[in-house]
Amino acid sequence: MAVLGAGIGGLTAAAALLRRGLDVQVYEQAGELREVGVGLHLGSNGARLLHRLGLGAELDRVAVRPAAMEVRSFGDGAVFARQPMGKTWEAEYGAPYYTVHRADLLAALAALIPPGRLALGRRCTGFEESDAGVRLAFADGTEATADVLVGADGVHSVVRRAVAGAQRPVFSGVTAYRGVVPAGETPSLARDTMFVWAGGPSRLLAYPVSGGRLFTFVAVVPDGGAAPESWSATGSADEVVRALAAGEPAVREIAAAVGEVGRWSLWDREPLDRWSTARTTLLGDAAHPMLPHHGQGANQAIEDAIALAACLARTPRGPHGPAAALDDYERLRRPHTRRVQLGSRDGGSMRLGGDAPAPASAAAPAGRPREGSAAALGSMVEDVGWVQRYDVEAALADA
Ligand code: FAD
Repeated sequence: MAVLGAGIGGLTAAAALLRRGLDVQVYEQAGELREVGVGLHLGSNGARLLHRLGLGAELDRVAVRPAAMEVRSFGDGAVFARQPMGKTWEAEYGAPYYTVHRADLLAALAALIPPGRLALGRRCTGFEESDAGVRLAFADGTEATADVLVGADGVHSVVRRAVAGAQRPVFSGVTAYRGVVPAGETPSLARDTMFVWAGGPSRLLAYPVSGGRLFTFVAVVPDGGAAPESWSATGSADEVVRALAAGEPAVREIAAAVGEVGRWSLWDREPLDRWSTARTTLLGDAAHPMLPHHGQGANQAIEDAIALAACLARTPRGPHGPAAALDDYERLRRPHTRRVQLGSRDGGSMRLGGDAPAPASAAAPAGRPREGSAAALGSMVEDVGWVQRYDVEAALADA
């Protein structure tokens, strides 16, 4: 099996395939697994699978299990709504909910892959599929062959272009500024809580990562001028300070601590009608790039990876084995991820922003949620309940 891309999806796929005794080689364009990115949400649906891969103790070490999610008024800090997480969430959805730095999760996954199985500095420029297998070509002039090619090569996937044709990105109308701030510089924020500030000109999220030492912030602002889709584009601290200037003191505390800023112009794609050919398939962002509003990008990639490994492992060997396995995989995953991909467009936590800031006299007493927003938060949680509860291995067993 050749897995193209050592992101969260590719590394999970490699770990799951190796665990099932399959022969795997991962090819990654980057020269090293760099610490790029900020925080991610690891929902119960992704966390249960990583626990089964043996990463429970490591996640408890590097990630955070938030005790609650609190929605506050952007302007005056009044608590709109508070959702218990922690044990309550785990009891409801059968596995913990984590917030984790992308670099910490990548490192934990990479530790599951023996050194010889991961080839760095190998940018794939194209591939050819025949009845006998797949031949990959790399920018450094080298080639490799495999029985099956897994395109886990992210939003700009070369494999997707070959399997499904060129697709136009769809701009969401918003841009997110993101980064991390030291928790020591935001003393008014509890280190075990996820925060959302709504009802202002920007919507701000902040959640603890790296054992609570850092807060990831994501400031979502309306943006008429769509910048190109990129994980490495940068913004400036001044832009964030301006976007958050009208916020309550805790919002400005975050703004004052901002250092490096990523500028994340939010695009997605229409769901694909097919993911696979006889020997090639897609997973993660290569298959279904989605907006971040349900916090599911990494989780859906993890589910894909586990499902793909199971389908490949249980298919009889022989010339038609890969095609049957890829067909099973796609039939299970395409309808599910389509629903999550389209659901993520609905705006998720953006609907909390519908609450105009109430006048000061109408502010709820400290710690007491305002009506309306509590209902919006409740409906948001209901929206993602089916995603959090989903167990892809149980679904495979049923299928
Ligand atoms: P990705 O995580 O995009 O991984 C794809 C991998 O394929 C990359 O390592 C890439 O270098 C490699 N690749 C691409 N093309 C080729 C090629 N031609 N040849 C060889 N290798 C190739 N999500 C968040 O929620 N918060 C973040 O802060 C965040 N930061 C990110 C930073 C970066 C640099 C990237 C790439 C993604 C980031 N994401 C972030 C996205 C998130 O990781 C994904 O949405 C999700 O984990 C699905 O991952 P994936 O494995 O499908 O794709």
